[in-house]
Amino acid sequence: VSRTVAFIGLGHMGGPMAANLAAAGHRVLGHDLVPEAVAEAAAAGVEPAASAAGAVAVADVVLTMLPAGGHVLGLYDEVLTAARPGTLFVDCSTIDVADARAAHERAVAAGMRAVDAPVSGGVVGAEAATLTLMAGGGEAEFAEARPLLEAMGKKAVHCGGPGAGQAAKICNNMILGISMIAVSEAFVLGESLGLSHQALYDVASTASGQCWALSVNCPVPGPVPTSPANRDYRPGFAASLMAKDLGLAANAVRQGQVNAELGLRAAELYAAYAERAGDTEDFSGIVRTVRNQSGG
Ligand code: NAD
Repeated sequence: VSRTVAFIGLGHMGGPMAANLAAAGHRVLGHDLVPEAVAEAAAAGVEPAASAAGAVAVADVVLTMLPAGGHVLGLYDEVLTAARPGTLFVDCSTIDVADARAAHERAVAAGMRAVDAPVSGGVVGAEAATLTLMAGGGEAEFAEARPLLEAMGKKAVHCGGPGAGQAAKICNNMILGISMIAVSEAFVLGESLGLSHQALYDVASTASGQCWALSVNCPVPGPVPTSPANRDYRPGFAASLMAKDLGLAANAVRQGQVNAELGLRAAELYAAYAERAGDTEDFSGIVRTVRNQSGG
């Protein structure tokens, strides 16, 4: 079924995601504060909308791909009164779990329906429509959103009620952030013990140390030729984005008084690393920090 979608936020991720929805046969009205982003999406089949509220007023579904929770809540406050009753609001941004729940509440209070559906897979996944999407919200809302989510990705998982998609995203990325540091520390310890990268890789990748951080995104050059370490740590998954996601995880850890010592420490280490590396380095470059701060 072809839907009319208002797509707000046509940046690195939203631009190609909106283009994939249009390519799947949906009518996509796109809006962004940056005119260049709108022009680029228009070249890929998205209809430019003069205002967010104007696009929302004629939409069946409102999709957002914005930087952070404040942007999503601000946009909802701006457009909820313009939407037709029952319009489905799907937020694909990565935001605080508490903000995601607040966004659901505001949408429902205005007579709308809502799903949070953050994504994993990066710009490459957004362009190739191979993202994994993790959704929170009611069964009926997820069922309605599903065909759209599957037009932008390869898999959509219904994780539970409002905020469950964001919860799954930050829990997954907390595993990833901690495990990348674990793998990095092991390689640097191996260096100090005279163990070659390849030997440690050959053992750990087929033993109980196996994980994505090691066997796909290996932080040292050599063992996995496609990992960012082999191209001077060009992302990949930028350190700044890992720092953002771990910051969201740390917020949730503190709010829930969860004893996640490694998660909180990983958030600190990535925040410091991202301040130096920013958007230009893959998060696996943290191995160089581990090495530089080692003695001997
Ligand atoms: P981006 O900064 O490239 O895009 C965000 C866009 O939103 C910008 O073009 C900005 O102009 C626009 N915008 C902000 N406020 C607006 C408003 N009120 N109305 C209209 N447009 C507005 O960011 P991105 O990399 O596309 O990331 C978007 C979201 O996806 C973030 O929450 C990020 O954490 C998440 N994410 C990013 C990646 C990635 O690899 N880039 C991967 C997974 C998830």
